[in-house]
Amino acid sequence: MNHQKIIQEVFSKVNTLESKGNLASYIPELANLNPDKFGVHISTTSSIKYGLGDYKEKFSIQSIAKVLSLCLAFKTFDGNIWERVDVEPSGTAFNSLVQLESDNGIPRNPFINAGAMVICDILISNLKNPKEDLLAFIKSLSANNDINYSAKIAASEKSVGYRNVALCNFIKSFGNIKNDPNEVLDFYFDLCSLELSCEHLSDLFLFLANNGKTPHNNKQILTKAQSQRVNALMQTCGFYDESGEFAFKVGLAGKSGVGGGIIAILPNEYSIVVWSPKLNEKGNSYKGMKFLENFTTLTEQSLF
Ligand code: GLN
Repeated sequence: MNHQKIIQEVFSKVNTLESKGNLASYIPELANLNPDKFGVHISTTSSIKYGLGDYKEKFSIQSIAKVLSLCLAFKTFDGNIWERVDVEPSGTAFNSLVQLESDNGIPRNPFINAGAMVICDILISNLKNPKEDLLAFIKSLSANNDINYSAKIAASEKSVGYRNVALCNFIKSFGNIKNDPNEVLDFYFDLCSLELSCEHLSDLFLFLANNGKTPHNNKQILTKAQSQRVNALMQTCGFYDESGEFAFKVGLAGKSGVGGGIIAILPNEYSIVVWSPKLNEKGNSYKGMKFLENFTTLTEQSLF
């Protein structure tokens, strides 16, 4: 399979498309992004690495980081995560409050904001230094150590984070947040502020295409069964109320973020990241979705 040739072809096709959608301007710092940024990078289990466009530039990975916090909770928490967070697609926006009332504060899945906050709460209860430990965990996933939170992005989001504050307090009222909501929110905003490039992200997500094992040093990060479950959750819940469409048009396990990045996994084959900051009305990268749809059409490889 010549992934590189197909990436070149799809990249030039999608690059010429009218850049529809809007920046995630509800976070003031993200409103300053250059909307024309466009990068892609693939890392394969057979050690091929290939990128085009702005693939070396760091961007705000936002909700993509929710996969990493879930993996760390899966690895370190010996209780049952799934008593506190469900594994069902929500069919609602990432920041929706509506289902929590009828679901008694149990978020539908770990990738909507509510679910990611409960995972943050679990990590705070179980780790000595959650912020440092999460960073160390992410560093262990690839050979590249150049990873950090962005204090600027976290502060920017916090300054307007009314809905997330409401979500966290609402879940607390049901008893499904154990720690101080302010502490949970601080950790959540830091988590979302992580900045990485397409190249770096596709490298460090490769363990999910490799049955839970990091290809660069053969470390078993998650068991095979855990890694399969994380991929299943990405496939069913990674794009909020556009998850069905992503399965239908792209057919990979994936996760988006409002910084315009998308990570997608084809188990046993590759991890690929696309970044283009303008978002469609569901909060997913407009060009990123188009790129991956065309990519899996031409490669004729998907989960199905
Ligand atoms: N930090 C963002 C928020 O909480 C994450 C949303 C996303 O990337 N979908 O609103």
